Amino acid sequence: MNRKYYGKTIFELSHPGRRGYHIADTGCPESEPLPEGLLRADAPRLPEVDEPTIVRHYTNMSANNFGVDSGFYPLGSCTMKYNPKINEEMAALPQMAALHPNQPESTVQGALEAYHTLQQLLSEIGGMSEFTLNPFAGAHGELTGLMVIRAYHRSRGDHGRTKVIVPDSAHGTNPASAAVAGLKVVEVKSRPDGTVDVDDLRALLDDSVAAVMLTNPNTLGIFETHIPEIAEAVHAAGALLYYDGANLNPMLGMARPGDMGFDVMHINLHKTFSTPHGGGGPGSGPVGVRAGLEQFLPNPRVVKNADGTFSLTTSDGSLGNISATLGNFAVQLRALSYILSLGREGLMKAGQLATLNANYIKESLRDLYKLPIDKVCKHEFVFDGLADKSTGVTTLDIAKRLLDYGYHAPTIYFPLLFHESLMIEPTETESRETLDEFIDVMRTIAREAIEDPELVKTAPHDTPVSRPDDTQAALTPKVTFFDL
Ligand SMILES: *Cc1c(COP(=O)(O)O)cnc(C)c1O
Repeated sequence: MNRKYYGKTIFELSHPGRRGYHIADTGCPESEPLPEGLLRADAPRLPEVDEPTIVRHYTNMSANNFGVDSGFYPLGSCTMKYNPKINEEMAALPQMAALHPNQPESTVQGALEAYHTLQQLLSEIGGMSEFTLNPFAGAHGELTGLMVIRAYHRSRGDHGRTKVIVPDSAHGTNPASAAVAGLKVVEVKSRPDGTVDVDDLRALLDDSVAAVMLTNPNTLGIFETHIPEIAEAVHAAGALLYYDGANLNPMLGMARPGDMGFDVMHINLHKTFSTPHGGGGPGSGPVGVRAGLEQFLPNPRVVKNADGTFSLTTSDGSLGNISATLGNFAVQLRALSYILSLGREGLMKAGQLATLNANYIKESLRDLYKLPIDKVCKHEFVFDGLADKSTGVTTLDIAKRLLDYGYHAPTIYFPLLFHESLMIEPTETESRETLDEFIDVMRTIAREAIEDPELVKTAPHDTPVSRPDDTQAALTPKVTFFDL
């Protein structure tokens, strides 16, 4: 990264008359001028730059980004694992990348087989009967899953179920999806150990409840041990049990939501199944259902025929279409490539290592950071800021100081159960050396907080911008360089 270019827009590098191209005079006659009424009043204010300037501009701008390919990215709940490059090669195969979504079935048999294979693998991994790969993200999967549940209740003439129960530790998309699905959200409390309060949940169950949405391991990285009991109570009340499997990583090959009694689930391919994400895209949130709910899945579905060919099918009971054709195909291909290259044993190992790595960091820092829930965690865990609260150094300060040391910050101030949440998810792809270096830096920051708190409170000191006002940036974004 060349600091000379920090923060400069392409407009500031512009000089009138500079060109990065040359069009030879071919003797071609000039066209007739456009009619006056179609011409703009002023020429567009386009930047005028030479070729080296534009190449340096974009090269340096790309180096301003932080990604999994540039460093450790322990962003809790987001599973920023390394994305193997073989996945990119598979997704870029012209036989796949150059397909038209409306090509005749007979000419896209390979693509349909890829879709069908992935949906079968996910069904096996999740313990479900069938998956749709059509939803475009985790939140979209949640909405789709809730629409399946609504279609199920309606098909039974059960129209009074208007509520969804969601734990207070849930990801914000859970209540949001329920609201978008036209359902009323009821919150169930967590116990001090971070798990759902089963008695509290029982008291909320009646014939107005359509579904209970749970995340397991939950957003605190804690495995919910009372699922069989919960599943029984939910089903006895006539409701369905929904599994938020955005972070399925630690469960891979170890436990299956279908076996635990869940009826509907979604998986985030872009997290657990290693496809690049962040900054708003791209994603894929397949939804799986237990036997008996398949007909409610969105249209179209991919089926394998008796003669071994594949076709698209639609079902009358379906909730309808939720995406253009079959979803985000390039992300599906990356996930398929990842699953096939790891195989059964590799997938199991991934989950185990993700769990080991998270516990290793937790145990190595618990003397300096406040650990509100003292349990073995799964793929991630949450500190409640520094153990020593006398320094005034907050979780935000720690996150900012980490940037100076070349790390992406962990997730901060989520979940909302603690004031100073600092949620760390190392994933399985990091080496022992990387984890040790990160632990060292976290210990250094805890020491700095005592010895020189101002240094931490004014961090970062080494980035192009220091502390932008997040709220103003979201409320009054300035998206143009010029004052229009
Ligand atoms: C990321 C996440 C989601 C939402 O997934 P998107 O693809 O961002 O919509 C839902 N639930 C949990 C637990 C998550 O971590």
